[in-house]
Amino acid sequence: MVKVVKFGGSSLADAEHFRQVASIIKADPSRRYVVPSAPGKRFKEDIKVTDMLYKCYELIRGRATKEEIDAQYTAICDRYKGIISDLGLDFDISGELEYVKNAMLHSAGRDYVASRGEYLNGLILAKYLGFYFIDAENVIFFRDNGSFDEEKTNQVLSEELKAHKYAVIPGFYGGMPNGTVKTFSRGGSDITGSIVARACCADLYENWTDVSGFMMADPRIINNPRAIETITYRELRELSYMGATVLHEDAIFPVRNAGIPINIRNTNRPEDAGTMIVSQASSYDSEHVITGIAGKKGFSVVTVEKDMMNAEIGFGRKILESFEDFGLSFEHLPSGIDTMSVVLPTAALDENRERVLQAVQRRTAPDSITVEDGVALLAIVGRGMVKAKGTAARVFNAISGADINIRMIDQGSCELNIIVGIDEHDFEKAINAIYDEFVND
Ligand code: ASP
Repeated sequence: MVKVVKFGGSSLADAEHFRQVASIIKADPSRRYVVPSAPGKRFKEDIKVTDMLYKCYELIRGRATKEEIDAQYTAICDRYKGIISDLGLDFDISGELEYVKNAMLHSAGRDYVASRGEYLNGLILAKYLGFYFIDAENVIFFRDNGSFDEEKTNQVLSEELKAHKYAVIPGFYGGMPNGTVKTFSRGGSDITGSIVARACCADLYENWTDVSGFMMADPRIINNPRAIETITYRELRELSYMGATVLHEDAIFPVRNAGIPINIRNTNRPEDAGTMIVSQASSYDSEHVITGIAGKKGFSVVTVEKDMMNAEIGFGRKILESFEDFGLSFEHLPSGIDTMSVVLPTAALDENRERVLQAVQRRTAPDSITVEDGVALLAIVGRGMVKAKGTAARVFNAISGADINIRMIDQGSCELNIIVGIDEHDFEKAINAIYDEFVND
């Protein structure tokens, strides 16, 4: 049995958390490969080390004074030195810190600077655990165009892992063909964990954070929502795309393809089972028909109307081409007999609003084009919906019972979700109504 364990920044923010992390790792000898983030926030107003590093890079680029740069870098060093001394660890990190500072001052790239957050934290954690340290730069590879090189990574990383029974591999970065360092997007240590799990054919990828898994709804909207015990990768895609953020979106792919489950766990409450993310959950094992509710505000609906549209071959293509020309992708495409609507984020539309609408006008010669802003989309997701009759009716009843007008409906073709468009100011109220209907009844 092999487990890969990734710990987020809040799980490694100070010495106390390091101790907790070590006790979790040592409690199970199959927890063999450890992927750390950089130290995160210790309290609400605190600053993550990654953000401090970005700031330091900007100061250097912006030719700030030596005093300003020194003060910023000293604050970063203090985070690491504080952890080492509070742990009582016999480890002199000053040479490393000096090296990083010199590299920063001598034109190291932005990604290199940011990646040092995980690198330095990884060194400390490896020392504390007595595990081997593998620098991600030498085992995780990007191509010249910046895309992740899965094949090469798998080959080199799996060989390297075979050589060490226990190891720490810092998250968030890898190496470019030209020898420089590149990071994934923010929160990317989740992706590293997934890549490591794939490379060693792990039985489980444990992702330790500061919440006990995914909640059925956003805790900022629903008071104390229930945790989701089991969720499939496809359900998770739907929910995280719609705003439920615990795990980086791209972290799903390497393990999903290899059939490795992910377990989201809480470092501060290791006794909680957390959420299991699996490829297949054959029977629906929850008492609720739905798995979760998520949503986003800030959408616009562009509706194009033309008599006999249904008979005009290529009408839809002409509309979509008009959006494509401006590099706009759409979220949904509800249509009627003589109307077709394109739903997309308002911020994206606003970059070229007039020109896009003119292009649609020119291409399709419609009877009318209207744009409605201020739309929120809700996704009600659940693999149990396929079998349960009347789910859509319950969703719509709950929404109308709360006196909310539904502006758009889209049931995904896989019967995994129902998407509803409503006015933005009804967003929180609608989520409450649906949650009450399915969970609190
Ligand atoms: N430290 C990086 C960030 O703050 C990556 C991570 O934590 O996953 O985005």
